This record gives sequence, C-alpha cells and structure tokens, in this order.
Amino acid sequence: MQNKSILFMMFSGYYLESDKMKIDRLIVGPLATNCYIIRLDSMVLLIDPGAEPAIITSYFDSKGPEPDLIINTHGHFDHISAIPAIVEKYNIPFYIDPDEREIITDSLKNGSSIFGENNLLLTTYNLIDGADIKRFKKNKIEIIKTSGHSPGSIVIKIEKNLFTGDLLFKGSIGRTDLFGGSVQDIKRSLLKIKNMENGYKIFPGHGLETDLESEKKNNYYLTNNVLF
Ligand SMILES: [Zn+2]
Repeated sequence: MQNKSILFMMFSGYYLESDKMKIDRLIVGPLATNCYIIRLDSMVLLIDPGAEPAIITSYFDSKGPEPDLIINTHGHFDHISAIPAIVEKYNIPFYIDPDEREIITDSLKNGSSIFGENNLLLTTYNLIDGADIKRFKKNKIEIIKTSGHSPGSIVIKIEKNLFTGDLLFKGSIGRTDLFGGSVQDIKRSLLKIKNMENGYKIFPGHGLETDLESEKKNNYYLTNNVLF
C-alpha cells in the first residue's frame, strides 16, 4: 500500500481533463476497483471508494480540494469498503440507490463475508431520492437506474461521460448471479445505454475506459441480439 501511494504521488496532472471537468482514477483493492475523482466547477465528487482509504486520502492530501460527496454505482463490498473511513475523515454524505440498502447493510449480500476480508456493513448512508436527483442535475450529475448486476445499480452521467459501475465494461458486462442480480434487468439496462447516442466516454467499475461507439461495435453483449 505504501509503495502504491508513493507511486501515485509521483504522478501529476489528471487522468482526463477537459474545460468542463477533471477526472482522476485510483485503482484500489484486491479486485482492482476503479475509484473516480471528478472535479466539477462547483464540487468534487468521489465515485466508488472501494478499498484502501489511505491511498484515497493521500490523493486528496497531495492534490487539493477535499471531496464534497460520494455517489456509488452500487453497493458490493469491493466498491464500498473505504466509505466508512472517507465519510468519517471528510464528514461528507454518501449516496446510493435505495434498492442497494439491503446490500450495503448485509455482509453476505454485499459479498464481504464471502469474497472479502471482513464482515462489512454500512450504517451511515443516504438513499438517493427525487430531491437529490434534482440537486445532482443542477450540478450536471445525472442518475440513470440500471438494475441487473444488483437491484440498485446506477450509471452516473456527467456531461458526455458515463460511470457505468459493474453494468458495462470494455468488451464485457457485469455478472448477474450475485444477490438480487437479474438477467432480464441487465438486458433492459444495457438496452437503455445502447440506445443513447454515440459520443459518450465510458468509465467502468473495473478495467479500462472505453466509449459507447466502440462498445456498440465490439462488445458481444451490445452487438448481438442477446438483449432482445
Ligand atoms: Zn459489483
């Protein structure tokens, strides 16, 4: 962990930068979860602080403005493990879809007691409601409900960027055999994303970034009739 944070601090500049926003990515934990830091005009958003809080806090120590809020794409243990430490250190709200409550509050359902190293359950959280969605939207953050990998999986849309969690990866899609997963739901959710116009960058919960156009062309699950 020590080596990783030193390596990270040697890195300067942003992972992706435009005039509208700056995006950084930290890769954390045993399942190499992508934790994204998005700097907007009015706030710093943290997505999926999945593990290794020391790496995440050293990022903010070295790079400036502290996070204002956390929004998670879903509640599996490899996406939530750093949340208690981050919420406590920065005293910021953590938001997740209401259908993930059962998962974040149960170590069997979030997988931490099966695949992880401890029994993890969250006691401090905010379930996203209509008012939050309006407030997010004012800050250019939109929430798209995309159940399937888990019941309350969401895609976070900011400008022409989609943070897809474990719904859609470069060349692949998320599994549906975990608690609350549904093949029918993930098909509907993928179709929602497939029907969006080209021009979106895609930042998945694991692996490399991609874009909607190349996934429509190259991702088996989007190119074939498996969605119908
Ligand atoms: Zn997951």
